[in-house]
Amino acid sequence: MTDRAEKTRNHWLATLEKFKHDPDQAADDGMWSPRLDGASRDELTAIQNEKLAVVTPFLYENSQFYRARFDRLGLAPTDIASLEDLAKWPVVDKSEMTKDVEANPPFGHYTTLADDIWRQRGWMLFSTSGTTGTPRIFRYSQIDREYWAWSNARAMHAMGFTPADTVFMMTGYGAHVFAWGVQMGLAKMGVGLIPGGGMDGRMRAGIIERFQPTVLCCTPSYALYMGRTMQDLGLDPAATSVKKLFCGGEPALAIGPTREKLQDLWGARLVEFYGCTEAAPQAGGYTCEATGGDDGYFLHLMEDIQVWETVDPDTLQPTATGERGLSVCTNLISESSPQLRFLVGDFTILNHDRCACGRNHARAMGCFAGRADDLINLRGIKFFPTQIENAVRGIPGLGDEFQIILSSRDQDGMDVMKIVVEHPDHGPDSKLTDQVAGAIRAEIEVRADIEIVAPDTLPKTEFKAKRVTDERAKV
Ligand SMILES: [Zn+2]
Repeated sequence: MTDRAEKTRNHWLATLEKFKHDPDQAADDGMWSPRLDGASRDELTAIQNEKLAVVTPFLYENSQFYRARFDRLGLAPTDIASLEDLAKWPVVDKSEMTKDVEANPPFGHYTTLADDIWRQRGWMLFSTSGTTGTPRIFRYSQIDREYWAWSNARAMHAMGFTPADTVFMMTGYGAHVFAWGVQMGLAKMGVGLIPGGGMDGRMRAGIIERFQPTVLCCTPSYALYMGRTMQDLGLDPAATSVKKLFCGGEPALAIGPTREKLQDLWGARLVEFYGCTEAAPQAGGYTCEATGGDDGYFLHLMEDIQVWETVDPDTLQPTATGERGLSVCTNLISESSPQLRFLVGDFTILNHDRCACGRNHARAMGCFAGRADDLINLRGIKFFPTQIENAVRGIPGLGDEFQIILSSRDQDGMDVMKIVVEHPDHGPDSKLTDQVAGAIRAEIEVRADIEIVAPDTLPKTEFKAKRVTDERAKV
């Protein structure tokens, strides 16, 4: 490492340490760190500016990807030293990162750690889920994991988890950030944890009955699947010890009928994490106790460790306050995967008003219910699969599963959509056809063909739902 590289790294680390208040335990029942979680907007802005001013020299001196990008843009690190300067730096999207990794396998040059430093430090490998392309690989250093545990503990404290809880992790324990990040945070909080990888639904039902967890951690699809599995075994999920469903990996809190279905099934409150592998280690978005109140459903973002913005999907320029846009994250605390304006790409509206919980950290209103990559464009009408979910799950009596099939009609080549749902009154003459079609038309103004099939016909989703089949003739 050059002297400048080392100096800028140490300066950045010292600044992180300066603001790592309450590193080991909660200072308060309501907020883990009242100085950070309860900071005013001005205090948050000051922390972000101080961290940003040391992040950019650190990136320039330690990451070949960032140095090349600064040079290409004709910018010096000191040109981006405050929030106002950020817009000078064009957003970085996944394709730019993928190109960096392809040119410099296997880990890319965007990291700040050269091979000799990796070998001196512990690290752990993670991967994206690959729902939209080839999984991408990341590794996180020990410093990252320590900040990750701390920020996740702060977020789960806001969700009301305490050492009186027992969390059952119904996750695969593969190379995915969600389960491991939660696990690290819970260990810091002193909350009991049951790892539930490598088990089928029946075994997990046995664990719930026997060890009485108060929190289940899983994808929303799995929470539904597990609840149905328990019912098939003659057990009532709502009568178990479970009080909270802690979900991540897919949106659920923002989709009314899905949220209600899960909460009714388990007699439990749904809380949610939102994040992405690229900008870990971080809590990302998290639920506070005030969500579902007067301001509807939303997630907080942790602004002393990250900067969140929204940008216009076409111009990628910042959107005005209160306007919908795609999420962009700058994480200020990552050694292994620093991100300067990374386009996470989920639609939301940011709000900076004080929340009823006392936090001033930004809120994603309506949560994040649509990733730009998932947007369906049918004859110029754009909508998200989550909107179909909202329409279909609002109809009582339909099964949990549904499928969206996009195809091109043989006779005239027109692109059409078929929605397949389950109901005991199935077949071409089902009285429900018009009701389902009407609900979809009301939601997205698209006329869809409806096929109603017998219950238990569609494949059951366990981990993450894959409900869209696109068979359209490619132009
Ligand atoms: Zn709040």
